[in-house]
Amino acid sequence: MSRAIGKIVAGYGNMLTATFDTSVRQNEVAYVVTGESRLKCEVIRVKDEFCFMQAFEDTRGVKVGDKVEFTQDLLVAELGPGLLGQIYDGLQNPLPKLAAQCGLFLKKGVYLESLDRDTKWDYTPVAKAGDVVQAGDVLGTVPEGIFTHRVFVPFNFIGKAKVKKTADPGSYTVAEVIAHLEDEAGKVHELNMIQEWPIKIALKQYRQRLLPVEPLVTGCRIIDTFYPVAKGGTACIPGPFGSGKTVLQQIISRYADVDVIIVAACGERAGEVVETLKEFPHLLDPLTGKTLMERTIIICNTSSMPVAAREASIYTAVTLGEYYRQMGLDVLILADSTSRWAQALREMSGRLEEIPGEEAFPAYLQSRIADFYERAGLVQLEDNTNGSVSIIGTVSPAGGNFEEPVTQGTLAVVGAFLGLTWARSNARRFPAIDPLISWSKYPNQMKEFLDKIDPAWVAKVKEAQKFVYNGSEIKKRMDVVGEEGTSIGDFIIHLKAEFLDSVFLQQNAFDPVDAANNMERQVYVFNKVIQLLRKDINAKDKDDARAIFFKLTALFKNWNSSEWQKDNFKNYEQQINEFLDK
Ligand code: ADP
Ligand code: MG
Repeated sequence: MSRAIGKIVAGYGNMLTATFDTSVRQNEVAYVVTGESRLKCEVIRVKDEFCFMQAFEDTRGVKVGDKVEFTQDLLVAELGPGLLGQIYDGLQNPLPKLAAQCGLFLKKGVYLESLDRDTKWDYTPVAKAGDVVQAGDVLGTVPEGIFTHRVFVPFNFIGKAKVKKTADPGSYTVAEVIAHLEDEAGKVHELNMIQEWPIKIALKQYRQRLLPVEPLVTGCRIIDTFYPVAKGGTACIPGPFGSGKTVLQQIISRYADVDVIIVAACGERAGEVVETLKEFPHLLDPLTGKTLMERTIIICNTSSMPVAAREASIYTAVTLGEYYRQMGLDVLILADSTSRWAQALREMSGRLEEIPGEEAFPAYLQSRIADFYERAGLVQLEDNTNGSVSIIGTVSPAGGNFEEPVTQGTLAVVGAFLGLTWARSNARRFPAIDPLISWSKYPNQMKEFLDKIDPAWVAKVKEAQKFVYNGSEIKKRMDVVGEEGTSIGDFIIHLKAEFLDSVFLQQNAFDPVDAANNMERQVYVFNKVIQLLRKDINAKDKDDARAIFFKLTALFKNWNSSEWQKDNFKNYEQQINEFLDK
């Protein structure tokens, strides 16, 4: 079947309608030739003799009659060594290079190779001449940063093949041939280190999916202790504008105990993205001491870029994640914000004049959200090693109303819900994850791991959560009847809940020590906190009780923050112990 040629017959925003001569397929990539430039598009609907395409670029200047060249290829990601450390746009164009070529204002119709063609990699062949291989088998390896990058037989390779020849160990660019494979029909394929995979199709090159049972430690106490996420699991962080979603994601990207981080900055304000781009490359990796960027990929689309590229960015991110999972690594994808992505869907759906669902989102919104989160998972690879992709996505519902379709659609499919509220962020209680509305389904399936921390861990956490709940009930009543109408017993429960909140659930993202805690430290501090919650407090009256907790809170906060590093942390701890033993 030959590639079709077509003509533009209509345009509406970045949706273009074209005719074609032979045939086109759904989701194939096409280029509109307009003047000097070629604009990349994706076919999103074919009907009778017309096809509807979303352009990944500004379509100003496109004319009726402009030529369309169809490619027959789906939208793909380029995979191979050299992805780590890159900053891409949603179509995997390397942004720094693009900027170097086009200056401050990116030109349209300029597409660059995603993988650098000049870098040399130290290649070590694994497969030998005479071996029989198939899709996903390892041909060789190259070191990439702190990892061993596996070079695979392309995942779309059909049938078995015999290795005819392999490259000698040595240094090669990604485009140089490293193996000759002869397929079952006797055809010889020359392979290099690059392969492509369609971004909207999940890569399922593994033996089996496993139930995620191991915690993904984020460093954030309210998540790890109260509402944990599993490695290979999913979580959503909904929160109104300014409630701290981006800051929280940044903290997680720095401290989460995973190998590879992929940040999909999707449709946020350009200024915010620029900040991320400026800051990120300089961050030191708390796990390796090198720069964090060495094991990070950033994909960004600001709200000023066309919506179609924004829609693609989230799929590009998850495809790159699945690729590194094939190497037996733990990957974390942080998508900020999926609401902007959903808006892109809505915009295109509107232009296609589809029947709108709730709040004008397309009827298939829920299934698209589910498909995306479904690509997370812990898998057992063919060589018996495990790899995982975890996804944490933020949602930014207008006005902080969680009843809207994107939040609801997301919470129906994720394993943990970390809801940020204005009530907490306005009170500067950061991270503003509200313990009263958040939940996690993972403690049950992670029980074996949690039991290793402490056999009573799950029960202790429930006990602490109950304090938060009871404290909030008492506070509500107290707001009506006043302190005088509250018994001293209830008042102390309220103070205990407040204490738990301020010394454990809240964390200062900008304090070098308090920003993130490893699990060992969380367990240690939490056990002290629980001891205190269980302790009978002998207070003469409410003022006395308040004074006791005021002192305790200060003590714990100092113990917990920068002071921890200094010698006097032992002094704080001693004072805490003295109080507990009293
Ligand atoms: P969002 O992405 O939800 O719009 P941001 O993440 O940009 O919100 O946070 C808005 C502001 O809230 C930040 O600039 C910061 O001042 C404050 N903030 C958010 N999280 C924290 C935190 N964990 N600790 C201290 N301040 C925070
Ligand atoms: Mg934000």
